[in-house]
Amino acid sequence: MSVEERLRDVKARIGKAERLSKRPVGSVTLVAVSKTFDAEDIRPVIAAGQRAFGENRVQESQGKWPELKVETPDLELHLIGPLQSNKAADAVALFDVIETVDREKIARALADEISKQGKAPKLYVQVNTGLEPQKAGIEPKQTVAFVDLCRNELGLSIEGLMCIPPAEENPGPHFALLAKLAKECGVEKLSMGMSGDFETAVEFGATSVRVGSAIFGSR
Ligand SMILES: *Cc1c(COP(=O)(O)O)cnc(C)c1O
Repeated sequence: MSVEERLRDVKARIGKAERLSKRPVGSVTLVAVSKTFDAEDIRPVIAAGQRAFGENRVQESQGKWPELKVETPDLELHLIGPLQSNKAADAVALFDVIETVDREKIARALADEISKQGKAPKLYVQVNTGLEPQKAGIEPKQTVAFVDLCRNELGLSIEGLMCIPPAEENPGPHFALLAKLAKECGVEKLSMGMSGDFETAVEFGATSVRVGSAIFGSR
């Protein structure tokens, strides 16, 4: 299958999952995860109409996205990988959505850059729903307090939550937990679901899914 066919297939599967869960068709945003692929691989996907893309490294993204954004100004670029505070300036400058806010230090660095640059990417808080020591994200039980701190003390507008369930577990309970936390925080957006489980994520209320290998092929 060509990349265009795989993109069409993923979109059809999202549409089917939307219908099965009685959600409006088109309500879930597909974020195509293009990490490790270069501009040449990404251009056909943009040409096929895809506009939202996800990357996990700031530096890698700086090597390909500035030119792609000039070619297609209405792209929406999501940072979905861990962010270090020394990269906050570059991240605010390049990304439209930063999905991985997960500690006070990074939230403060982002708040500083947002006021300096006068540019405000949308922000999501990453939650480590599986309490995995090697994984980024705030603990579930600290999420509400952290979102409050971001909003009330730092003046950040937090729009959503994001999670990456443990690879070897049934993802459903993790998606359900993220949806429950989002209600408690009063945020609308839920970024959850990848190539292996995006249909399940749609069923649990994902507003965006992050799909890489099912579109671009294996990395
Ligand atoms: C790589 C990555 C994805 C996409 O994973 P696939 O299994 O290739 O769809 C989604 N989310 C995050 C945070 C990632 O790093």
